Amino acid sequence: MDFNELAELLYPHITTVPDDMEKRFPPRILPEGAKVTRIAPSPTGFMHLGNLFGAITDERLAHQSGGVFLLRIEDTDAKREVEGGVEKIIDAFTRFGLKFDEGATLDGDFGDYGPYRQSDRVEIYQTYAKQLVREGKAYPCFCTEKELEDIRLLQQEQKADYGYYGRWAVWRGADMDAIKAKLKDSVPFVLRFRSEGSIDNKYKFTDLIKGTVEITENDKDHIIIKSDGIPPYAFAHPVDDHLMRVTHVVRGEEWLPSLPFHLQLFKALGFRIPKYCHTAQLLKLDNGNKRKLSKRLDPELALEFYHAEGYPVPCVIEYLMTLLNSNFEEWRMANPFESIDKFKFTTNKMSVSGALFDLNKLTDVSKNTIARMSADEVFKGVTQWAEKYDVDFAERLNKDPDYAVRILSIGRGGTKPRKDFATWADVKPYVSLFYDDYYQTEDVYPGEFDRSDIKKALELFIETYDEADDSVQWFSKIKSIADTIGYAPETKLYKKNPDAYKGHVGDISMFIRIAVTGRLNSPDLYEVMHILGRHRTIERINKQLTGFS
Ligand code: GLU
Repeated sequence: MDFNELAELLYPHITTVPDDMEKRFPPRILPEGAKVTRIAPSPTGFMHLGNLFGAITDERLAHQSGGVFLLRIEDTDAKREVEGGVEKIIDAFTRFGLKFDEGATLDGDFGDYGPYRQSDRVEIYQTYAKQLVREGKAYPCFCTEKELEDIRLLQQEQKADYGYYGRWAVWRGADMDAIKAKLKDSVPFVLRFRSEGSIDNKYKFTDLIKGTVEITENDKDHIIIKSDGIPPYAFAHPVDDHLMRVTHVVRGEEWLPSLPFHLQLFKALGFRIPKYCHTAQLLKLDNGNKRKLSKRLDPELALEFYHAEGYPVPCVIEYLMTLLNSNFEEWRMANPFESIDKFKFTTNKMSVSGALFDLNKLTDVSKNTIARMSADEVFKGVTQWAEKYDVDFAERLNKDPDYAVRILSIGRGGTKPRKDFATWADVKPYVSLFYDDYYQTEDVYPGEFDRSDIKKALELFIETYDEADDSVQWFSKIKSIADTIGYAPETKLYKKNPDAYKGHVGDISMFIRIAVTGRLNSPDLYEVMHILGRHRTIERINKQLTGFS
């Protein structure tokens, strides 16, 4: 068989050769040890935690080593593609603050190793496919769907391995005349790889996360160019990662079974094999059992969930980092205020068997992370979130930023900051008491107290309240109110001799707190009153008093 002739017959329109591509995409000039990584999602419209998990790994590996992190769009499967899918990918990564050095952007491609959308790379793939035909490593197959189905049924009957290989590979040994006859009739064909592998051959391969794995050679003549001229993932992967000079392929462990074929293609194409990092799946505990996160059952799998719920981006990243590297939490404890980029990320601290995702843990991490932010940062975060998800609240905040920042400053800073918020959505219920049209009485006075005591305490408070008092003077007045109406001015006095009093100073504070904030629990009452101002404080207490007459 004249393979050159066959190559011309199959791909007459391809005039480029691999050497042209090698020249067009020369090896990168980067510092020693610099890693080139990529995230390569398909535009299916669904961006999930797995995408982000991989992207953080890629980003850290690249940027920590002075390398390059790029975004490639794997859009060769038109059936899975949805309208606006590419925009969704870019938007999701942008919102999580991932910075690409090259790749697809909303305004087209950016970088010297593009195009970065596989649908724009058909000529490149076919250049290499044609070369494989020339070398006798690939051949056309004209089987119809029906013929392939018949082969499958026979294999089932004979309990043979499924697939196109050995004696089942009917076009593998076809002669030129048979091929020409089909081409003359314009019968569509796929291009298949001529595998020389055998399932009896096994060898060891080192994955940077999984460690040493045993590979069984691939013996199937898989498709490398489909009948529409476009490659499946298996062929686009080596061509793209070689020409984009990717050094580290980070991808989900669901790709491990196809690794033998991918390695075979790298070798057949004469490419250097990149380092592989197969990441373990994200699992969750469900009724005591670990299972994969599911699109149908777990809303938290979708990246949109975190935006809509208002989990701040740094909190999600911080939490994912605890799942990605087992020593991250320890590092964070030792370096509570250090930028996350200072942490040394490594693939050998990544889970081999599966990382357990836990929303409660994220909530905890989130509370701690927001507690470390300044009031200005919190203001900015919550306003940006509300502009999209709670426009009315955003307007309220933006109307008087200084006022909002004062509220958000309560209990912030210091060694034990308040941990009220896990999400931006938690801010509104917390601050609502400061906004008159959100404010409402949420808690009522506990029934065991005499209503006339409450009334008296509120009246005395109004009589004695002086905004100029410092917090010590302010509290001593509350103590004396307690004393006046038969409540212990110190909690410990009450504890020693509970029968001697109707209650204690804490109860008096509570009477006032409910009147001013509408709640049993609130941020520091002295500070609340100062932010509300004398007029509103007294007004609220008076309003409460009208209910007592
Ligand atoms: N398009 C593939 C995916 O989204 C990419 C796999 C890879 O990173 O190589 O799963």
